[in-house]
Amino acid sequence: MDILRNVNLSNYSTMGLGGQASYLVNIETKQELIKALNFANLNKLKTIMIGGGSNIIWRDEGFKGLVIVNGIRGFEIENEDDEGADILIGAGENWDSVVDKAVSLSLSGIECLSLIPGSAGATPVQNVGAYGQEIAKSLVSLEAYDNKSENFVTMLNEDCHFSYRSSCFKKNIGRYYIVSIRLHLGKTHIREPLYKTLSQYLNDHKINDRSPNTIRQAVINIRRSKLPDPKLVKNCGSFFKNPIVSNDKYMKLNDKYKNVPHWPSAKGQIKISAAWLIENAGFSNYSDPISGIAVWKNHPLVLVNERAKKTADLLDFKKILIDSVKEKFDIKLDQEPILLP
Ligand SMILES: Cc1cc2nc3c(=O)[nH]c(=O)nc-3n(C[C@H](O)[C@H](O)[C@H](O)COP(=O)(O)OP(=O)(O)OC[C@H]3O[C@@H](n4cnc5c(N)ncnc54)[C@H](O)[C@@H]3O)c2cc1C
Repeated sequence: MDILRNVNLSNYSTMGLGGQASYLVNIETKQELIKALNFANLNKLKTIMIGGGSNIIWRDEGFKGLVIVNGIRGFEIENEDDEGADILIGAGENWDSVVDKAVSLSLSGIECLSLIPGSAGATPVQNVGAYGQEIAKSLVSLEAYDNKSENFVTMLNEDCHFSYRSSCFKKNIGRYYIVSIRLHLGKTHIREPLYKTLSQYLNDHKINDRSPNTIRQAVINIRRSKLPDPKLVKNCGSFFKNPIVSNDKYMKLNDKYKNVPHWPSAKGQIKISAAWLIENAGFSNYSDPISGIAVWKNHPLVLVNERAKKTADLLDFKKILIDSVKEKFDIKLDQEPILLP
């Protein structure tokens, strides 16, 4: 385990921006995590754990502390019966490989979360979700190092306080370092009604099979047609959450603009498409000449870094988008990727 000094954080965010970390270490076991934390303690350094950097925006000032990159591996099937199985997954496993393995075992519950970049351990942080599934629906428990009690703890699903793209981990970055997650996956196929885009794709392609593998392939095809591959185009996926508004507010908006894409949300509220708001605020396929940031041509919710060198450029363009949407629709957009530290 080598502790590296003065590391460029732009290589640890798929947005390709950020200053330097004073120290960075790749860990592969729980023991290495403890060693890394002891080093930080001894040198009075703050710490942060990351996975694949696909949901992080580092500041230009960098991170004056120790960045711990989680590379703890593992994929074990537990308690399998006719109905399903539990799987215990190391936090540093690549998430899409986990989905691929689960699907090849005909297990259902995470097939719609195919092709989401990043690590398994980060999935509870923002309760990753796509095409009608979210990790909160499959997660049984997880093991994490609690920086407050300085112990490894087991947390059950209800301890994680999951909500739309959030959890206790996202609200309290740095307290828990997740080392493994346990999921329960089923052996029956995904239930109707399916998410609209997915159902449309299956209908258009006359696909009646709902097996995990068929759904995975459909999701992969839909995502590839819409989303940029972070290995080729610098981006962090959806840059904003879909805003949730009262039914009243949605009705007024829809009276004025017609066919505003929306989904029902908790407590009778309505989730509005942030992509639609950005597009209709005048930013469809828009490339900003000043910041070097662009709105992705196939998906206005994704901001791509064409030639920005600084996080400040991204934050300037983000402000322009937020202000424009607020002015036109009186709705505030919230950033999805985490601005660190
Ligand atoms: C092209 C693209 C498409 C995407 N599509 C989706 C999508 O459909 N749905 C969706 O929900 N997200 C999506 N994302 C966002 C992102 O992929 C997910 O949030 C993913 O789970 C982040 O994983 P990561 O390992 O890269 O986390 P990182 O970016 O490394 O970290 C994200 C946050 O989690 C914390 N963290 C990471 N690992 C741990 C750990 N082991 N313990 C404690 N804290 C940790 C970090 O401190 C940070 O605050 C997309 C991103 C891209 C680039």
